[in-house]
Order: sequence, then C-alpha cells, then structure tokens
Amino acid sequence: MKLFHCTCGNRVFFDNTACVVCERQLGFEPDRLEIIALDAHIDGRLTAPGGAVYRRCNNFHRYYNCNWLLHREDSEDLCFSCRMNEVIPALDRPDNLKLWTRMEEAKRRLLYSLLALKLPLTGENALKFRFLEDNRRNPDVFESFVATGHFNNTITINIAEADDAARHAAREQMHELYRTVLGHLRHESGHFYFRTLTAQPVLLDECRTHFGDERDDYHGALQTYYDNGPPADWPENFVSAYASAHPAEDFAETFAHFLHITDALESARAGRLAPEAEAGQRDDWIESWIGLAITLNEISRSLGSDDPYPFLLPEPVKQKLGFIDRLLRPQGELPAG
Ligand SMILES: [Zn+2]
Ligand SMILES: [Zn+2]
Ligand SMILES: [Zn+2]
Repeated sequence: MKLFHCTCGNRVFFDNTACVVCERQLGFEPDRLEIIALDAHIDGRLTAPGGAVYRRCNNFHRYYNCNWLLHREDSEDLCFSCRMNEVIPALDRPDNLKLWTRMEEAKRRLLYSLLALKLPLTGENALKFRFLEDNRRNPDVFESFVATGHFNNTITINIAEADDAARHAAREQMHELYRTVLGHLRHESGHFYFRTLTAQPVLLDECRTHFGDERDDYHGALQTYYDNGPPADWPENFVSAYASAHPAEDFAETFAHFLHITDALESARAGRLAPEAEAGQRDDWIESWIGLAITLNEISRSLGSDDPYPFLLPEPVKQKLGFIDRLLRPQGELPAG
C-alpha cells in the first residue's frame, strides 16, 4: 500500500474516513487510487480540492464504514467495490455484520492491487463476490458446507473465515502456516485471471512449463492431496503445501503470493524501510523482499508474535513468481497506483 496524506499534511491510511488532525472527511477515489480530503456540505455533497464533487457509498451510512467514493452524478448507490457483491450475509444474525465488514476491508485491499495493476474487473466477465455462511455456523441455513472458491467469475467466501477463532482452528486442522481473508481473496482472484492472463498460446505454453498442465484431472488430484497430504519434497518446488495439489492451485497460490509481496514491499518502500527500484532497471523485487522479510519476522519474534511471513522461496518458486510478474507487468513497471 502506498502512502496517503490529508491536505493538512497529516499521514492517513487506506481505510480512514476522517482526518484526526483537521477533522476533514476522507474517502478513497478508485479511479485515482488516492485518499482524498473532502469538505462536507449539508446536502451530502463532498467537494475535493480542485472542485470535483463526490458522495458516500450507501454502505457507509447503512452498514459499515466503506470509504470508497462515488462521483456525484453516478447512477449507482454503491461504490465500485460494494456493487460487486452478489450475496451478502444475513445481517439479523449476531456477529455477521462484524464478519462481513472484515471481508469488505480485505476485499477493498485486493481491489486496490488489481486496479493498480490495471487488471480487468468489469464488463462482460465482471468479477463478483458471494459472502455465505453454512449451517455449522447458522442452523437456519440449508447448506451444510460452503467452500471458499472461484466459479464462473464469482468468488465465494465462507464468512466463518473472518472469525479469528474459526479461521485459526481451520489453519491448525489443515496444518497450514498462513491463512488470512486477504490471502483467500488473492488466491481466488488468481483463478479468475488465469484465462485472461494466459490467453496468448505462447504464454499458456510457458505457464505450463512452470506450473504443469492445468487440464489434469482436478478432482482426482485434490482427492489425492487430501487423502495423502503433499509430497515430502514440496518445499523445494512450491510456495505452499496446497500449491502442490494441482497446477491450477499452484498458479493461484503463486499469483496470491505475488500480490502479498508486492503490496507489502510497496508499504515498506512508502515507509522508507526498503530502497525504491532504480529508474530504468527491472525491479529486483523478490530479493528486496527476502531481505526485508527476514527482518520483519525477527521483529515479530521480538514482540512475542508468530512469523508474519512463514514462507521460503526456493529457485523454482522465484521462477514462477518472475513469470507471474511478466504476465502482470509486461513493461516491468511497479504496481503502484
Ligand atoms: Zn487533515
Ligand atoms: Zn462501498
Ligand atoms: Zn484454488
């Protein structure tokens, strides 16, 4: 995430809705990928320096503090992010608003990265989201198991993933080192973009040399993975154990990992904890990140917390990340907004 400032000079953050120093209203402008300081008027108009006029997303008033702005003349009630929802959780249930709010926070962060990378999100194959619960959590719901996944341009997430205790329990049960809502969303977006990114036959061929053939029997491979676990040598070839389950999962895991690293590195560079890429040179972002991640983990241990970055990047994984980078940034530019 990049650095944002209020017009008063105060540093502000991606989710902020008001400046704590000057009390101006703040909102995120998805076309410009900027947090904008706004003057509020009695009729609901919000004016930006320079004269542009905005209003709040309806979910800001109704449900949670969505800070994404709409242009005043926009015919929609919901912002670019909120209007991508096909299904939201039943809000008469205790805690569901809290869990949904967390989902939306992670979703906006995902969308920030996808917009910064200029990836297609709207049009004929627009991306949609469904936030569902199953009857392990809510006995009134028919469905006994809602799996997180991607199908037909729609990402489905079980809202239990936003419940810290439930997610930690799932992580333990699956022997995972890393499980977050944002990680799920990034992974599923990797499935969503696979076809678009590998539309050129030459890229699809190269993709298969890195990840294997995504047409391999998917359900058989997943069944084998859940029955037998990952191959013993998975850490030498894959970014996560789950990535070894099937080529399509390897692609999605690596795509998610590209977003983890580039977003975290952008934050580090904004805070001057890592040097900027040199102008005119291909950004050596993987090596920059590895140096930083070692320190990040050590700082976290000093604070008595788990490693925030529990991954190793062996050479084959670096090659795969480099390939994803070339798919997403053909000119080699930084993904900053
Ligand atoms: Zn301010
Ligand atoms: Zn919104
Ligand atoms: Zn997947």
